[in-house]
Amino acid sequence: MLQQAVNELFDQQDVISKPMYRPEVQQVIDQHKLKYVLAQFVDIHGAAKTKSVPISGLKAIEGEGVGFAGFAISGMGMQPHGPDFMVKGSLSDLMPVPWQPGYGRVVCEGYVNGKPHPYDSRYILRRQVERLAEKGWTLNTGLEPEFSLFRRTEDGKLKMVDESDNLDKPCYDYKGLSRSRQFLEKLTEALIPVGFDIYQIDHEDANGQFEINYTYSDAMNSADMFTFFRMAAGEIANDLGMICSFMPKPDPKRAGNGMHFHLSISSEKSKNLFHDPSDPSGMGLSKMAYHFIAGLLEHGPALCAFCAPTVNSYKRLVVGRSLSGATWAPAFIAYGSNNRSAMVRIPYGRIELRLPDAGCNPYLVSAAIIAAGLDGIERELTPPEPCNENLYDLTLEEIAARGIATLPQSLKEAIQALNADPLFREKLGTEIVDEFIHQKSMEWVEYSRHVSDWEIQRYTEFF
Ligand code: GLU
Ligand code: MG
Repeated sequence: MLQQAVNELFDQQDVISKPMYRPEVQQVIDQHKLKYVLAQFVDIHGAAKTKSVPISGLKAIEGEGVGFAGFAISGMGMQPHGPDFMVKGSLSDLMPVPWQPGYGRVVCEGYVNGKPHPYDSRYILRRQVERLAEKGWTLNTGLEPEFSLFRRTEDGKLKMVDESDNLDKPCYDYKGLSRSRQFLEKLTEALIPVGFDIYQIDHEDANGQFEINYTYSDAMNSADMFTFFRMAAGEIANDLGMICSFMPKPDPKRAGNGMHFHLSISSEKSKNLFHDPSDPSGMGLSKMAYHFIAGLLEHGPALCAFCAPTVNSYKRLVVGRSLSGATWAPAFIAYGSNNRSAMVRIPYGRIELRLPDAGCNPYLVSAAIIAAGLDGIERELTPPEPCNENLYDLTLEEIAARGIATLPQSLKEAIQALNADPLFREKLGTEIVDEFIHQKSMEWVEYSRHVSDWEIQRYTEFF
């Protein structure tokens, strides 16, 4: 009898310790001792939003979803009296959150009344990725995040983490890199184990500014990874008493925080359909790549609204120079061979779009890139001649004489360009485009009504 009772007890324990989830999911839970999982999605700005789900409740993520009050989330087009915004994801995507032991993350998409939600950025990108897939193509994107490190003083002001980092030309400076290595190492060592193939880290061209490079991936995975990158960088910095800022232009005199997108299209047969070594220009581009570039340039002004989505972004995309000699950010709608002063640089056999900044929503930018590039391919658009001159050295008259247009110089101009370009409403959906324009118009009005220190300085005793 006693033996039977003992056996029963062991049987029960067996039942308790048996995997609750399918083996590959349970393995991640066990290996990383996960207790909670973040059901994570993004709002219209690309900012990560989450609920924490204890392991026992994980089934909801793949089932009915995790519920949110949609009206509380920026740009979801929902009302306080409407249905819930339910986010769902696949537990096969479960990964640990290395800087937050015991936590995992599943990237999710939103549903309302059981249907994919047309305001959800990730869903918007999925639809564009599917348009490419119908042709047998995958867009691969390599994202280059730049960011600035700060600390807050006791009176709430921002100051640089490393005050000795004050060269006019700080790019690649050894001391600057060395003195911020504690943060850079922690970030790198958190990201490598979860699939970031980090191959270079450098001090960029502004004081306290850095860039981390990792291998490209398909557009959806890259957007998911960049979201995770910003989550990691923000929280690891916070743990060290720092702020890791992705603000596009923290210092008006120095280079801003860009987030260049390297682009290529692959198919089952070819790793890179943009590459053609017989290109007489020497840029190694295929006909398809030229059409894609033409689409990016033609829709450049509207694309700008997604790529440079804040009032601050337009202080990065300025016509002019920084203290180091160059802003390295584009102001003109042109492309050229390895031309870092143009909106599109051709490194050789692929495309680098230099327009996006680190404050962008990577899902909306990637979706807009596909919409613009595919438009160029489908209409077989031809770009103008490449521009291989230093655009920072030419006068505005010389640039205009070459038929090169200037990018929008304010958020207002960019929103007007987006409003006037029918492509994005047609391909991304009227809901998301109208909501984006609405959100950004409000941001512009709020900014315009703000009285800045500059105005106080200039006008208080001016008259
Ligand atoms: N920081 C520059 C930008 O805002 C880019 C510098 C670089 O070429 O890496 O785009
Ligand atoms: Mg850079």
